[in-house]
Amino acid sequence: MVFPFMSVEDFKINLSEEHEIFRKSVREFVESKLMPIWQEVEQTNKIPEEVLKEAAELGFFGVGIPEEYGGQGGGQLLTAILTEEVSRAIPSLAVTIGVNHLFAVPVLLYGTEEQKRKYVTPIARGEARGAHANTEPSGGSDVAGIQSKARKENGHYVINGRKVFISGAADADYLVVSARTSPPREDKRWWGITVFIVEKDTPGLKIGQQFRVMGMRGEQPYEVVLEDVRVPEENIVGPINEGFKVIVSTYDHTRIGIAAQAVGIAQATFEKALNYALQRELFGQRLIEFEMIIEKLADMYMKLEAARLLTYWAASLADEGKREFIVAASLAKAFATETAEWVARQAIQIHGGYGVDVETGVERYLRDAIITTIYEGTNEIQRLTIVRQLVRQAFGLKI
Ligand SMILES: Cc1cc2nc3c(=O)[nH]c(=O)nc-3n(C[C@H](O)[C@H](O)[C@H](O)COP(=O)(O)OP(=O)(O)OC[C@H]3O[C@@H](n4cnc5c(N)ncnc54)[C@H](O)[C@@H]3O)c2cc1C
Repeated sequence: MVFPFMSVEDFKINLSEEHEIFRKSVREFVESKLMPIWQEVEQTNKIPEEVLKEAAELGFFGVGIPEEYGGQGGGQLLTAILTEEVSRAIPSLAVTIGVNHLFAVPVLLYGTEEQKRKYVTPIARGEARGAHANTEPSGGSDVAGIQSKARKENGHYVINGRKVFISGAADADYLVVSARTSPPREDKRWWGITVFIVEKDTPGLKIGQQFRVMGMRGEQPYEVVLEDVRVPEENIVGPINEGFKVIVSTYDHTRIGIAAQAVGIAQATFEKALNYALQRELFGQRLIEFEMIIEKLADMYMKLEAARLLTYWAASLADEGKREFIVAASLAKAFATETAEWVARQAIQIHGGYGVDVETGVERYLRDAIITTIYEGTNEIQRLTIVRQLVRQAFGLKI
């Protein structure tokens, strides 16, 4: 036993030649179509429609979704590679793709066959968009504490509540929405939540204010208001009153994507810093010859590769269906996102004044990196998960 894992085989990373062929094809799109428009996206706070259309035609929205539901297949590892490559240029496009997964994953994990065909297939084909509305003003970390309510009425559920920070909400054709269908049980605070699919034109569903967050320009989140929104019973995802499990296990899967966003950000800023240090001359020397700069670059590279390995490892465990992927996903998410933040900060420092000039295109990655430490479970929540999973795996104890 390799504490707390069962065997050294649990540390396998299952990359193949196909992954590399895929990575190269994504990079071609990234270099030719995304790199040239980063300033436009920063300035307009919008990803051009034609770019989204092309990404859909290339099948990006279907990566990681089974072929039988219109996707490209490929699992978590392929999704991580796509996300990493896209994030190297425009991390907010990876968010746009990611929020569609945040809709599709709970339906794929817990939904009925009919729900998968009706809702996941058009999303996988890039013909419709999804969003995931869980966070409320009362606090995103405390999923059991949500206050939106759904009451049963003549074979329908009527939802009332308010959601905040919902990415992709304005463009979504379908949203997964969590709401309380019963009060919590004394011994189980999480019990009593149910997850629903809500279609965009349902009366009472309103997309409210757009939040203006510091980064991820091109994909800013929205407020979502639900006022007497009637949803048919067949739109319930997973067991009634056990929606907490639906939501939490969705994030176990999707947070590997956040780690991959962070790896792409760290990769981009490391490359920029290295290139700049090679070109810039001061005191009759190239910057890269100064010991303090060498140390920074070595540490940036060390952390970047460690973050990448953790991310690929978590994705490999998830693709193999091993339960240990949950702890690996939290390790990868917390480490990779903090790495991205740190590497981006060092890259700014290496660029000096040009590093804080928005036109250089380095500081934007720091703004994006900070957001990755917050969504889909803050890094404090990841640390909680890490220790809880560790104790559970190693000693079979619940804390
Ligand atoms: C750009 C962006 C996009 C988002 N997109 C979506 C989306 O599409 N769908 C969606 O549902 N949500 C989305 N979110 C919401 C996001 O998931 C939440 O912001 C996040 O879960 C944190 O919740 P909160 O902001 O309410 O902070 P809180 O939960 O109030 O936390 C505040 C602080 O307390 C810490 N904390 C909380 N609990 C503990 C604890 N037990 N121990 C130690 N520290 C703790 C947190 O780590 C944090 O530092 C998005 C957020 C952002 C910023």
